[in-house]
Amino acid sequence: MTFIIVGAGVFGASTALVLAKRYPDREIILIDRHQPPSPDGSSVDSSRIVRADYAKEEYTKLMIEAEAIWKGDRELSQHYRPSGLLLCDEGQTGYVKEAYQVVTRLAVPQSLEPLSGLRSIKEKMRTSPSGQSDPIKMKDEEDERWSGYVNWSSGWADAEASTLLFVKRAIAMKNVRFIQAQVAHLLYENTREDSKVLGVQSADGRKLKADLTILACGAWTAQITDLTGHCLSTGQVLAYFKVTPEEEEKYKNMPIIFDLTSGCFLIPPHNGEMKVARHAMGYENPKKIPHWRGRGHVTVSVPRTSVTHPNEQIPAEGEEELRRWLQIFTPEFANRPFTKTRVCWYTDTPTGDFVITHHPHHQGLFIATGGSGHGFKFLPVLGEKIADCVQNRLEESLKKLWQWKDIPKEATRGDGSRGRGDRIDISKMYNDPADVHNGEYPVQPPFSKL
Ligand SMILES: Cc1cc2nc3c(=O)[nH]c(=O)nc-3n(C[C@H](O)[C@H](O)[C@H](O)COP(=O)(O)OP(=O)(O)OC[C@H]3O[C@@H](n4cnc5c(N)ncnc54)[C@H](O)[C@@H]3O)c2cc1C
Repeated sequence: MTFIIVGAGVFGASTALVLAKRYPDREIILIDRHQPPSPDGSSVDSSRIVRADYAKEEYTKLMIEAEAIWKGDRELSQHYRPSGLLLCDEGQTGYVKEAYQVVTRLAVPQSLEPLSGLRSIKEKMRTSPSGQSDPIKMKDEEDERWSGYVNWSSGWADAEASTLLFVKRAIAMKNVRFIQAQVAHLLYENTREDSKVLGVQSADGRKLKADLTILACGAWTAQITDLTGHCLSTGQVLAYFKVTPEEEEKYKNMPIIFDLTSGCFLIPPHNGEMKVARHAMGYENPKKIPHWRGRGHVTVSVPRTSVTHPNEQIPAEGEEELRRWLQIFTPEFANRPFTKTRVCWYTDTPTGDFVITHHPHHQGLFIATGGSGHGFKFLPVLGEKIADCVQNRLEESLKKLWQWKDIPKEATRGDGSRGRGDRIDISKMYNDPADVHNGEYPVQPPFSKL
């Protein structure tokens, strides 16, 4: 058995590492269009939330496995910050209540602290787990419809450093070969609809063959194979702003605050910077691209990123929403200039579950994507589970969750954790007339961090 894995984000890198261990005599080719870290890959950012707080038990259980490694692995734990996570809402989502019940039942109930009222939520942001309340005067916006809880055993991780650690571990294996190339399309045995997949062809014409091709290209996967109704690439806004040493000191013990009413969240200060982002329905970017097998054109949502549109800021709508939200929770930062903004692309699925499965119609093809805005935290265990699925021995509950499902595309509100509002066509936000994407992707020069 030989393998090609396309994509060196958390899905691809973790899989390469595990398959290399399980098949020491077989070659594993790991391909990415960038030398990692990919500048617009979803797995690459200063922070990602690492939480067991899920409404679905399967993910909480999986996170309990992953958390032990986040905290116990000598190298990985250096990138993990156990800040705690404050999950709250304005009484509308139900997700917070369900997550609280699940973590109470399955995780560490002693690390949970229920909260009621906006005042207590805001106070908690300025309080350490064992420390004193900040004497800040609260305004009258306290609203008893707000409630939530802190899970002091959740936290966040430096996503870029953690992903890079797994990429390095993978390519340090003697049977893993990393190739920088943009995969243009799959190679098929014949022209039949259900043809076997033999490998990939790169944009510069290289043909690479393997017994199994694993597509782990995140939000770009739908450009290589038909994922209609299974995955939709959606853009989410995030922004950074600077804080003074005094502000960093004041907020240094705050938990992450994650408000599921708007979907906005704030990561505690680190190295003089804070990050605010929104987990909502996001943007889609429908573009005509060449059909996956050369049969005319199809329309798919294509990531619009700092690589395709350098120096573009987030849409005004997104910035306004982030600032409106900061005004509620940390008014002193609401008008702070953003030092960097980014639209980062989720690979959304109708139910918020990953898509990890042998392709039902194409022998030789395996799909490992569908992170749905929450895949990063499973980095330490994801490769094991994907490899289990490759070997047809994945536990039944996860197999059921991640299998190929025929769910209509309309059902794409995800797992119930998204903030209010509908999905927006991002090209309308920029008055962008072009509706055709030629499939080409500008490749930046190699990065030197490997
Ligand atoms: C704004 C934002 C916030 C998030 N917050 C959290 C969070 O707090 N907690 C959490 O757990 N998860 C979070 N997620 C989700 C998580 O980051 C993703 O689920 C996860 O990183 C997806 O990993 P991936 O490997 O599928 O994709 P990626 O990391 O995007 O990797 C895909 C790789 O494929 C490569 N590639 C693409 N096309 C090609 C091609 N044609 N040829 C070769 N290579 C190609 C890319 O360069 C890239 O390196 C967030 C995501 C975003 C966008």
